[in-house]
Amino acid sequence: MAQRSLHSPRLSLLVLLCLLLVCGFLATSLASYYASRDAIRDSIVNTELPLTSDTVYSEIQKDLIRPVLISSMMSRDTFVRDWVMSGEQDVGQLTRYLHEVQNHYGAFTSFFISERTHTYYQAKGVLKQVREDEPRDAWYYRVRAMQEPYEINVDPDMANQDRLTFFINYKVLDYDGQFIGATGVGLTVDAVVKLIDQYQRKYDRSIYFVDTQGKLTLTGAEGGPFGARVGQSLQDIAGLESLLHKLPTPQSGSFEYQERDRGHFLNVRFIPELNWYLFVDKHDRQAFAGIRHSLYLNLLACLLITAVVLGLVGLAVRRYQRNIEALATTDALTELPNRHGFDLLASQALREAQRNQNPLSALLIDLDHFKVLNDTHGHLAGDQVLRGFASLLRNSLRQSDILCRWGGEEFIVLLKDTDHHAAFKLAEKLRQQIDAAQFAYNGANLQIATSIGITDLRQDDTLHSLILRADHALYRAKQSGRNRVCVEPAGH
Ligand code: GH3
Ligand code: MG
Ligand code: MG
Repeated sequence: MAQRSLHSPRLSLLVLLCLLLVCGFLATSLASYYASRDAIRDSIVNTELPLTSDTVYSEIQKDLIRPVLISSMMSRDTFVRDWVMSGEQDVGQLTRYLHEVQNHYGAFTSFFISERTHTYYQAKGVLKQVREDEPRDAWYYRVRAMQEPYEINVDPDMANQDRLTFFINYKVLDYDGQFIGATGVGLTVDAVVKLIDQYQRKYDRSIYFVDTQGKLTLTGAEGGPFGARVGQSLQDIAGLESLLHKLPTPQSGSFEYQERDRGHFLNVRFIPELNWYLFVDKHDRQAFAGIRHSLYLNLLACLLITAVVLGLVGLAVRRYQRNIEALATTDALTELPNRHGFDLLASQALREAQRNQNPLSALLIDLDHFKVLNDTHGHLAGDQVLRGFASLLRNSLRQSDILCRWGGEEFIVLLKDTDHHAAFKLAEKLRQQIDAAQFAYNGANLQIATSIGITDLRQDDTLHSLILRADHALYRAKQSGRNRVCVEPAGH
């Protein structure tokens, strides 16, 4: 019971301290983590992604606007229209024209397809005849049927080892507005793909283009989101479900969505020249990896600090507690147990002796005429004698015997497994030893005598009744002249 009541305040102090430290550290670490997260999120949404989108867009504009203008001029060119309307006589004239356009403007290819003859002309001459049942020529029939004056299309270029090419396909109309063919230039998308790749690698974001129907139209060399290929619809790409929920058809703006355990930030921008949407996507795992790492380090450091602080406080409190306990049960002058310390040890010894019916004797020792010694040599000399007496007592007894400074110049000794006969012998020896002893103080040798009262334990004794009998014996020793041992056996 006593042990527990001594330990529980220490435990609750440590638990409280632990809670305070953990809560404090957690609060500051998490607050700074979330603040950094918000700052990073803001910078991704408001700066990084729109900036990437701007750069990619301006690169595309740079690449596309000129070819669109060139193609527009080709479609309005009176030479081309006159040449077609006069029956496509001299192929050399048109190919020279296409060659000039291609070379002068640095296009990758230039072409004209005649509606009347279905001939595909390009700078090097006639390439082929377009056919409605040929999938590669589907674009021509699409252009012929469309409302708009032109389209931008990305296709492999048959005339250039099937390299992926931006084609600007312009409708050519005669002077009455009748469709007479399609013309335009093509340029390789390599530059745009390179730019996309460079951005994806450098800034760890994914960049791709999607048409108004939600189909992937252009991606980096390694494909679109989750490795999807051009032509695939966003609807069919696993991982984008939560995005499509918010964005069933492409639309400009900033979006956030969840892909299993990763959050994504997405910037979508309409590119009117292409009639496509540019998607710039960044997932938060990478973006937050740095601060998450420092959060973990932070928490680890906090954990270590908490453990060290708790360990140190625990040790200090334990030491302090032990000191207090020792102080509470020890007499400072003689370093013998005081009454409180004695009570704890004695009641246990009494119980044991009574339970096992072992003999136990009590000695009550009082120094004779101590007052005189004090009065003659001073109080400090008295203290010195008390210290010397206590150490003599300690040295003459067994480890198992229980010693106590009962108060003033009175001492109690409990001798375990010792009846009053054996106790008398020991007390007599002790009395003689003390009588003969000299205690040095300030150059003087002080002497002191003792009176000792002895009794032994009865089955029905309490500590109080035991000491009372020993006190009677002591009284008799004093009365009969001091410096002697008197016994009050238990039977009396
Ligand atoms: P008696 O033989 O009858 O026991 O005589 P006595 O003088 O020893 O008797 P009494 O009990 O009247 O006196 C005890 C004295 O011990 C009185 C007190 O001043 C002194 N004393 C008690 N405690 C201390 C202490 O810690 N140091 C010193 N120096 N003296 C103490
Ligand atoms: Mg005395
Ligand atoms: Mg006394």
